[in-house]
Amino acid sequence: MIRRSFLFALALGAALPLAAWAEAPLKVVATTGMIADAVQQVGGDQVEVKGLMGPGVDPHGYRQTRSDIVAATRADLVLWHGLYLEAQMEDFFHDLGRKRKVVAVADAIDKSKLRAHADYADKYDPHVWMSPVLWKDVVVEVQKALTDVRPDSAAYFAANAQRFLAEIDQLDAYGKKVLAQVPEDNRVLVTAHDAFAYFGEEFGFEVLGIQGISTQSEAGLNRIGELVNTLVARNLTAVFVESSVSDRSMRALIEGASAKGHTVSVGGELYSDAMGEPGTYEGTYIGMLDHNITVIARGLGADVPERGMSGKLSAGL
Ligand SMILES: [Zn+2]
Repeated sequence: MIRRSFLFALALGAALPLAAWAEAPLKVVATTGMIADAVQQVGGDQVEVKGLMGPGVDPHGYRQTRSDIVAATRADLVLWHGLYLEAQMEDFFHDLGRKRKVVAVADAIDKSKLRAHADYADKYDPHVWMSPVLWKDVVVEVQKALTDVRPDSAAYFAANAQRFLAEIDQLDAYGKKVLAQVPEDNRVLVTAHDAFAYFGEEFGFEVLGIQGISTQSEAGLNRIGELVNTLVARNLTAVFVESSVSDRSMRALIEGASAKGHTVSVGGELYSDAMGEPGTYEGTYIGMLDHNITVIARGLGADVPERGMSGKLSAGL
């Protein structure tokens, strides 16, 4: 409403009182859905968020489109993840940072809390959203960035952030409770790429990815053979596919195990680097993790609620 009258006034060439300017929502562009969700949670009605990467989009290989460039150059604030997640967009954001307020929100996390990158000595594992505890640092960074561009709304952003951080704490506690019900021998998470190391650390799971931390390299036959042997030797029967990564190597793994007389099935589909459909519970950060926690717990033999922490997950996982 405020926005419409603002545009109307603009069209008439009317002089606007200062308060009207202050009330127009901040235009924020964010790369991943997880960051866009944090902006929406903290910014509330003071922001108009555009997330560049939708459901199923792989951030490791994503390049900015023409319309992304337009949106980012017109935004009041541009937030990207950093930690080399958006490997193909680094130059774009560094250049844009000379003209716009651009913040790499995950770069702010204390490096002592991060895991080393398996392939690059000077880089870190970027998948920090998988740990609710680490993600809280990112939410605080989003709050700081919004407050920097609109200091008058500091108290509003702080109150929203507190509420969201409390929800994340609740999710973390729920995850610990339900994942502890997975039989100890089954606490191994086999996934398409190495996105779940922080998740494993937080919730006490061993994590084995077919591909490395980035999805940009093909899984070698050696790696698949090695994992087949592990599945057989440890009698692991469930693996997990990811919504933003091709399941080709996962098929090869299942077939490899089958050739050795060991039946492995898909325990479910996880959201690794992108969230679910916008407008759904799975299309929020809390819903994305609730989904993963629930699918992993049930897929590995725990009897936990199908509809998740607060009964909001889609049925029939
Ligand atoms: Zn990834």
